[in-house]
Amino acid sequence: MPKNNSQALYTKACRLMPGGVNSPVRAFKSVGGTPLFINSAYAARIRDADGKDYLDYVGSWGPLIIGHAHPEVVAAVTQAAQKGLSFGAPTAIEIRMAEKICSLMPNIEMVRLVNSGSEATMSAIRLARAYTERPKIIKLEGCYHGHADSLLAQAGSGALSLSVPTSPGVNAAVIKDTLLAPYNDSQQIQKLFAQHGSNIAAVIVEPIAGNMGFIRGQDEFVHSLRRCCDEYDSLLIFDEVMSGFRVALGGAQSLYSVRPDLITLGKVIGGGLPVGAFGGRAEIMSQLAPSGSVYQAGTLSGNPVTLAAGLKTLEIVSKPDFFASLAEKTQSLCQGLEAAAGRADIPFCCDWQGGMFGFFFAASLPHNLEQAQQSNQNLFRAFYHAMLQRGFYFAPSAFECGFVSSAHQQTDIDASIAAAQEVFQQLRAL
Ligand code: PLP
Repeated sequence: MPKNNSQALYTKACRLMPGGVNSPVRAFKSVGGTPLFINSAYAARIRDADGKDYLDYVGSWGPLIIGHAHPEVVAAVTQAAQKGLSFGAPTAIEIRMAEKICSLMPNIEMVRLVNSGSEATMSAIRLARAYTERPKIIKLEGCYHGHADSLLAQAGSGALSLSVPTSPGVNAAVIKDTLLAPYNDSQQIQKLFAQHGSNIAAVIVEPIAGNMGFIRGQDEFVHSLRRCCDEYDSLLIFDEVMSGFRVALGGAQSLYSVRPDLITLGKVIGGGLPVGAFGGRAEIMSQLAPSGSVYQAGTLSGNPVTLAAGLKTLEIVSKPDFFASLAEKTQSLCQGLEAAAGRADIPFCCDWQGGMFGFFFAASLPHNLEQAQQSNQNLFRAFYHAMLQRGFYFAPSAFECGFVSSAHQQTDIDASIAAAQEVFQQLRAL
């Protein structure tokens, strides 16, 4: 192999796969440079194709809350695989997973297991439309819910609620029923309901958003969503694909005293294997086929190997003090980074919850997409590459968040802060 193996692999990959990757953010487009090709990973570290190790704050974009290749997860997966990879028929482990999710998530009485977060949100929306017999949904700007057509909408240049597709190939007709509002803006939500309330099936929201960087829904905003949904008999869908079993054992819904009607999950519940789920009130969920008439299906849904990984992961995260200890490490990282940036006079701020965090090169925390976009992306790119060079792997975009796992040690956190301190001092000199 030539010296820069990642570069050689990327060149070859680009000939065979669009952009050389199977999911766009992996291509490093927003930070520039060549994406690392990963050979292996263990605990909190990943190793690239050139044999260099990195402390990993991506964790496969969230699922790996107990670190890579956790021995107990690997054993559970191996055991399950030896009994057959997939049956396309009911299995007892699906019941165990459903029981676990229903017992840990405050508002889930019934659940359907699917194969990705995108499938979960797409199906939850279909169910909400069927249940309410209404066409429209409200999506919050900056929240990401996967790549279903009706969710690939952004604000148009005209009136507040006019949306346009974010991707060619999405028909305008498909997203005409997707209304948009800025995140953390209760007034705009009220306006949309006043205008369209009787046609609104649901509001879908990341209560703690992780796809415009880390931005938490303010208490008043999340409550206003519930109030409007109650007033107009619409459903409230919490997309907890990222925040579920990540910001707290009971997800973001356990942190707000707000009850969603439907919840979508993914990531952690698959322990690193492909998964998604959606659940909520039994009265709504039982409208799904075959108990009801709302169609939803999947060849590999409820896969026994995936569920073995997911159940083992959930078993570990539900041990007493798991989240307290995880949150302590995340806080220590974030406060350390903020202090280091402060010493270098770099505008930088961080927010975190449980094992999820985000930072912005900005003087104060943004509360919505527009504010997030005003953060200094040049500083982010410079920071990103300098940290990568020192062996610290953060998400390659200013608008993604970071993940700490139980495999991260305090010494790892301290080393990250020390490296960041050096980098911030360099940035000051630029
Ligand atoms: N919803 C949220 C909040 C997400 O963060 C993601 C993915 O990052 C999705 C949905 C889509 O999940 P998937 O990539 O598994 O389709």
